[in-house]
Amino acid sequence: MRVYNFSAGPAILPEEVLKKAADEMLEQEESGQSVMEMSHRSKEYEQIITGCERLIREVMEVPDNYKVLFIQGGASMQFAMVPLNLMKNGKADFVITGQWATKAFKEAKRFGTAVEIASSKDKTFSYIPDLDKSNFSHDADYFHICLNNTIFGTKYSDLPDTGNVPLVADISSCILSEPIDVSKFGALYAGAQKNMGPAGVAVVIIREDLIREFTDDSNVPTMLQYKTYADEGSMFNTPPTYTIYMIKLVMEWVKAKGGLAAMKAHNVKKAKILYDFLDGSQMFKSTVSGKDRSLMNVPFITGSDDLDAKFIKEAKSKGFINLKGHRSVGGMRASIYNAMPIEGVEKLVEFMKEFEQEN
Ligand SMILES: *Cc1c(COP(=O)(O)O)cnc(C)c1O
Repeated sequence: MRVYNFSAGPAILPEEVLKKAADEMLEQEESGQSVMEMSHRSKEYEQIITGCERLIREVMEVPDNYKVLFIQGGASMQFAMVPLNLMKNGKADFVITGQWATKAFKEAKRFGTAVEIASSKDKTFSYIPDLDKSNFSHDADYFHICLNNTIFGTKYSDLPDTGNVPLVADISSCILSEPIDVSKFGALYAGAQKNMGPAGVAVVIIREDLIREFTDDSNVPTMLQYKTYADEGSMFNTPPTYTIYMIKLVMEWVKAKGGLAAMKAHNVKKAKILYDFLDGSQMFKSTVSGKDRSLMNVPFITGSDDLDAKFIKEAKSKGFINLKGHRSVGGMRASIYNAMPIEGVEKLVEFMKEFEQEN
């Protein structure tokens, strides 16, 4: 029996997608082969990777002057690739809203001056800090934010106004969850395993004029230059072929469900069920309030470690898995990505009500 999986990532995938992948496991369409067995240079595979890119462009309304790249190494490798490629003058601004934002900031320091503009560390990253524009570096190459903070359950409700400085965002845990105006960003990146597919690739959406040319004697490795991926359709070397195929199936699913506006409506509805319950409960409390609440990752606590542990254990036995909070925060966290059905959240809340009564 399939469980309700509230994992932060790798995370739940749409059942329809998994079934289609299962149907095509031995033979994808008329190819006589599994996608895993195909040459990445074959006609069949070319249709998969270009089809995947086309669907991302269509569903996310990516403007024509942006490239969509598939790069291995996850979002974590982008913490290095972004500064390596974008820090032309050696400076970038960062807002520190959690563990991933911190990692991006620390990695950027290897390559130049990374400036901390604001942080919410004082209150365990439970809010998005107000930004004072007069603190922004006018000579920064870019301004980096983590749009949705997977571990702490916060997200930006407004984007910072960075003027001519390109805004770069880690959107690993909110990509495809609601419409996003790509034109407001210089670059966006996301590890696939939260809301797009299985692990193995990061999707990078980058404005063409930010793709830097390196000289042949540059010490930046070929595989860490965006240009390599942009010039070769993400096929300079063998891409993670099966992961990209799975992302294509997820994109088809998102499109068939009505695209990002429909995803947003679905996600707002799910999140409301959970937050409304948390706000009314005597036992469970949300750790984030108001406009900064994430639609995708909902951390909550009882206030007692013993009770938290009991809840996680009993929830698991009822088929609600991966509700343990991140090891750095404790408590619980329900990640309710696109593929989580409304019933999953409704049933979780029912179970939480019962647990509250019994304890
Ligand atoms: C999961 C996550 C990452 C790390 O992704 P990897 O693909 O494991 O490197 C980075 N940023 C955010 C916001 C995440 O949720």
